[in-house]
Amino acid sequence: MNIILIGPPASGKGTQAEKLKVKFNFNYLSTGQMFREIVKQDTELSNDIKSYINVGKLVPDELTIRLVDEYLKKFDDNILLDGFPRNLFQANELDKRINIDYIIEITASKDTIVKRIVDRGVCKNCGKNFVISKTKTNICDACGGEIIKRADDTVEIAESRYNDYLQKTYPIINFYKDRKGYHKIDGEMSADEVFDQICKILEKKI
Ligand code: AMP
Repeated sequence: MNIILIGPPASGKGTQAEKLKVKFNFNYLSTGQMFREIVKQDTELSNDIKSYINVGKLVPDELTIRLVDEYLKKFDDNILLDGFPRNLFQANELDKRINIDYIIEITASKDTIVKRIVDRGVCKNCGKNFVISKTKTNICDACGGEIIKRADDTVEIAESRYNDYLQKTYPIINFYKDRKGYHKIDGEMSADEVFDQICKILEKKI
């Protein structure tokens, strides 16, 4: 079973993906996390990618698809994609590569998104997301890494990423919404409630 998660930044895709990976043993690829890993190195490629992700702009399709292809060469089933596809071109390219069984759209208002982004931390080591106001230390409970702010998690960049989402990513909802596996979930609910809904869908209880 292959599944994609679609939603604006900070709608909870990353949090849900982490939980789904554990429960269903998915081969999980977050393109955002993949780019953040590459950016940690000091190479021409990392500097190129940094110039896009640090200002909240999409990395060019050709490069993104090349890196996704490297991942798909290793896994051809039970794939969970978070952050890909991000536009119609990528959605069409993905269709040429794998069969998608479930498309889960997670919605959230702009106000919620901006609030969450300002309060979001991420483990520098494993990429786990945290709500900063609810964490007692800056140490990741999953791997012991340091919890930091993402360079693109500022109000200004959040606004730009949200606008980019509406312009470039949201049109892919029309591309998918008539498919059997498409489901829309209210991301304003608690993470546990959203997770419960997704599990019911994947376990075919909805
Ligand atoms: P995310 O962690 O999903 O919020 O992604 C962080 C950043 O990585 C985005 O703002 C983009 O700069 C880049 N990115 C992630 N996924 C993609 C994609 N599918 N296509 C292009 N750029 C992407």
